Amino acid sequence: MKLAARVSQVKPSLTLAIAAKAKAMKAEGIDVCSFSAGEPDFDTPAHIKAAAAKALAEGKTKYGPAPGEPKLREAIAQKLKSDNGLDYKAENVIVTNGGKHSLYNLIMALIDPGDEVIIPAPYWLSYPEMVTLAGGVSVIVNTDASTGYKITPEQLRQAITPKTKLFVLNSPSNPTGMVYTPEEIKALAQVIVDADIYVVSDEIYEKILYDGAEHLSIGSLGQEIFERTFISNGFAKAYSMTGWRLGYLAGPVEIIKATNSIQGHSTSNVCTFAQYGAIAALEESQDCVAEMLQAFTKRRQVMLERINAIPGLYCPKPDGAFYLFPDISKTGLKSLEFCDALIEEHQVAVIPGIAFGADNNIRLSYATDLATIEKGLDRLEKFVRSRI
Ligand SMILES: *Cc1c(COP(=O)(O)O)cnc(C)c1O
Repeated sequence: MKLAARVSQVKPSLTLAIAAKAKAMKAEGIDVCSFSAGEPDFDTPAHIKAAAAKALAEGKTKYGPAPGEPKLREAIAQKLKSDNGLDYKAENVIVTNGGKHSLYNLIMALIDPGDEVIIPAPYWLSYPEMVTLAGGVSVIVNTDASTGYKITPEQLRQAITPKTKLFVLNSPSNPTGMVYTPEEIKALAQVIVDADIYVVSDEIYEKILYDGAEHLSIGSLGQEIFERTFISNGFAKAYSMTGWRLGYLAGPVEIIKATNSIQGHSTSNVCTFAQYGAIAALEESQDCVAEMLQAFTKRRQVMLERINAIPGLYCPKPDGAFYLFPDISKTGLKSLEFCDALIEEHQVAVIPGIAFGADNNIRLSYATDLATIEKGLDRLEKFVRSRI
């Protein structure tokens, strides 16, 4: 079969492949410690499930409007106002099949062949692949531990060309967990406004913050940046709703209309009764978010201390999300070799940094229980000690 050329241009998701391998090994009865998961390990809070179950029982089982249930779009606009200081109405919001789909819709609606999209590395692995699918060009800007894996305003300015259309900002970051400070966000906003480009702010981890770190939504800094900002967010991480496939894009009405046309011919509306779970997530108690955060806080501390106690590994302290992204260069191994050997010899699954454009690192998720963290870190330590 001769497949379309675009297929050979995208890589299958390495994170999904490794998580699947760890799962398969577990199914064979092998004692695997997996730090590969890109999702919270908690069940969806009961009140959210109950709201969706009620909608299902009430027969909310038909097609709905492609951009989402009006009540949910309202609730999201309200959330963006109260949490993020963004002045959107329901018409500025489209409900999508996850945050991933909101980004995909945006890139399909905005990027023409040849348009450049600036992506700081380490990056979430789907960004460049989506740009490729749209025929755009990813301009990868490498960052390292010296700037906390964050792009500087100077780096951003230097990467901008007449072809630049969009800058992708992800804070808190997957894979590094790093959070841009309000000052850093302000400086980046200035560059974006000066160059008259757009920014998409992927805020999926905005609720998962530690040690008093603050999330500033870049579009809230004034009218000029607001008009150039798209917000991508969703329910997966904050409310442990990964399998529900619920996200949203917010921005100028023009982009929402454009993505609505694309969505109307591809997926149509997100599962109707699931959207009622999302309404409950936004409108009811936020205690569940705080409870999950409390568990993550403890795990982060344990995992970070253990990693930095291993000679040869180094990990700066991240302020958000649920990942650590230690540097492994002292082991002399590239990230893929490291991960292959670690899972073969010690049955520990982690993600090679090369998947995120950083071959000297690995990503560990601490969205797992403390006992697994302790056991897996014992094994990781043994492995690293055997290599240095
Ligand atoms: C998990 C994640 C998303 C969105 O996930 P969905 O399950 O599609 O909502 C978006 N961006 C980043 C960086 C993520 O880690």
